[in-house]
Amino acid sequence: MALIVQKFGGTSVGNPERIKNVAKRVAKYRAQGDQVVVVVSAMSGVTDNLIKLAKEIMPLPSEREMDMLLATGEQTTIALTAMALHSVNVSAISLTGAQAGIVTDGVHTKAKIQNITPKEVHSMLDAGNVVIVAGFQGQTSQGQITTLGRGGSDLTAIALAAALKADLCQIYTDVDGVYTADPRLVPNARKLSEISYDEMLELAGAGAKVMQSRSVEFAKKFGVVFEVRSSLNENPGTIVKEETKSMEDVVIRGVALDKNQAKITLAAVPDKPGLAARIFKALADASINVDMIVQTASHGSGSKATDISFTLEKADLLKAQKTLDAIKNDTGVREVIADEKIGKLSIVGVGMRSHSGVAAKMFETLAAEGVNIDMISTSEIKISVVIDLAKGESAMKAVHAAFLG
Ligand code: ADP
Ligand code: ASP
Ligand code: MG
Repeated sequence: MALIVQKFGGTSVGNPERIKNVAKRVAKYRAQGDQVVVVVSAMSGVTDNLIKLAKEIMPLPSEREMDMLLATGEQTTIALTAMALHSVNVSAISLTGAQAGIVTDGVHTKAKIQNITPKEVHSMLDAGNVVIVAGFQGQTSQGQITTLGRGGSDLTAIALAAALKADLCQIYTDVDGVYTADPRLVPNARKLSEISYDEMLELAGAGAKVMQSRSVEFAKKFGVVFEVRSSLNENPGTIVKEETKSMEDVVIRGVALDKNQAKITLAAVPDKPGLAARIFKALADASINVDMIVQTASHGSGSKATDISFTLEKADLLKAQKTLDAIKNDTGVREVIADEKIGKLSIVGVGMRSHSGVAAKMFETLAAEGVNIDMISTSEIKISVVIDLAKGESAMKAVHAAFLG
């Protein structure tokens, strides 16, 4: 008898028919005698709609109330999934994140899991139930409802698999696995049979939303091997696991395009020690994650000054502007310029460590496409460039063709 954690994303529970399909799949595993913990997302579109509703009330709603609101999406699905299992005579019970023992810090809308005490999950499993846990949500030790950041149901699944020492962790989604690029943007992308944690982590961080990046970080830390596969068929998916020797033979594993980034430029920042520290401390205090940072000598101004540009999630743009406006006069920054029309294009592969000329080839490919590079950043196994959003998809296709075509 195995203990299996199965996570079903938004599309996979997108309507009553799909939820019944999930129940059928779960029932099949149950019939083999396996214990099954199911993690579900909100039905597709629900979380986006809730965010839209909130923004119609006010542009920057309280993050505590956002969590109260967003958690309802997953709570709907757990109850419906339990009912769907009951309807095929399988004992099942739904639990909220809090009931499942998921304790987080208090950073609303992007809370981190602090610990999991899955006592209730164990006892419900032992009583013969399929246990259905609401993804994406938890509770602080003071009893406040929190959410784990967009795509956070992946994290719920991986963290539960670790806490329960599950034998198998399956992430069911609406594509057959992890591809060399988003198959919706690059039609000739190929499904990978396996990928290392580090590559998956970099791809996820670069915008391949097939896995939430924090969930991959968690899986790597706790050695949770998992499979990404489709809820719509029986095809084998992609295994995500520790790197093996043969993985380095492939130079580039995948390409990703992040369209959800924005850029802020601080023009004419006085060139003196401590200013960058003050600016980025203010952003950090507002829980804003900054990605690439570039500093250049400022053009034109009389006294010594620099321009600082950085990228961040589009969803944090308004909050960042508010934070920066509050310290603008104090720091002597002349102007805060926001740009939402950027895309971040990345190539990822552990093979980069042992192959040279990868960056040159990427830049040549972009040049041939007439794409201007605005910012560049690299890690040991990733190269990212910021480019014009309008050219993002064609640039992605060209780079995919050059390395993986
Ligand atoms: P779920 O609702 O199941 O969590 P998501 O929409 O979050 O599903 O993630 C699945 C989507 O990720 C796919 O439909 C696909 O468009 C997108 N995606 C982006 N990059 C990749 C990739 N490299 N491989 C597979 N899917 C990708
Ligand atoms: N419902 C949440 C979201 O849309 C969490 C998830 O689907 O993983 O981001
Ligand atoms: Mg997802």
